[in-house]
Amino acid sequence: MHRFFVPRGALGGDEVALPSSVAHQLRNVLRMSPGAHIVVLDNSGWEYEVELTEVAPQGARGRIVSRSLSATEPRTKITLYQSFLKGQRFEFVLQKGTELGIVEFVPVISARCVVSSLEHAERKAPRWEAIIREAAEQSRRGRLPELTPALFFREACLRATRAGQLALIPWEGETNTGLRQALDRTPRPFSVSLFVGPEGGFEEAEIAAAREAGVTPVRLGPRILRAETAGLVAASAILFAYGDLD
Ligand code: SAH
Repeated sequence: MHRFFVPRGALGGDEVALPSSVAHQLRNVLRMSPGAHIVVLDNSGWEYEVELTEVAPQGARGRIVSRSLSATEPRTKITLYQSFLKGQRFEFVLQKGTELGIVEFVPVISARCVVSSLEHAERKAPRWEAIIREAAEQSRRGRLPELTPALFFREACLRATRAGQLALIPWEGETNTGLRQALDRTPRPFSVSLFVGPEGGFEEAEIAAAREAGVTPVRLGPRILRAETAGLVAASAILFAYGDLD
């Protein structure tokens, strides 16, 4: 069944007023008619099976026939602090990270980012949000991952450590601590912050600043991963370690 995230206000009693973007898709792309069933999610953790009652150019409506708690969200809440990447790579990370179960994306400007303006992220936000939404619907997420405004690296480190729990920065220059050791050192965290650098990696001064803020450098094995690969690999390994891929 097709799944759609809608704003909270779209649900009232047993009725759902679907937003125009969804109405357009139901009518013109999926060619659905009244009587068809879809799943609607309002980001509350519930999902609703809805029977369409109206699919018209002026909008679409439906009636809730049942509801259940969605059971697809990982227990381990990973926030990915991803440095800006060139071209489509950032979008690739948002899409794949959503499929994997990342709950929050923080775009980060670090020293070696090729694009380094906050306006870039602001301009791209609507497109990035659409990519996340589509990936969340396709992969049957129960909640929509959040996209925060962009932050500079040092602010991002402070935000991550204020959030408490485990904060890790994969760095290919780390020789002592592998990801497994870092996970084994602490009790199972509720949330994990994960920092990944841009194509050119992090500067040593950034690693020092991260360490000082309480973000632990870890190695992801002896091979150098592309910037768009590293976060996905680290997130997969963390979710696997805590049983979220079972
Ligand atoms: N500057 C490096 C590569 C950067 S890779 C070089 O060209 O040699 C981009 C990002 O991926 C890094 O900042 C780091 O966060 C992550 N990364 C890639 N491979 C890694 C590894 N083996 N261990 C830890 N982090 C890695």
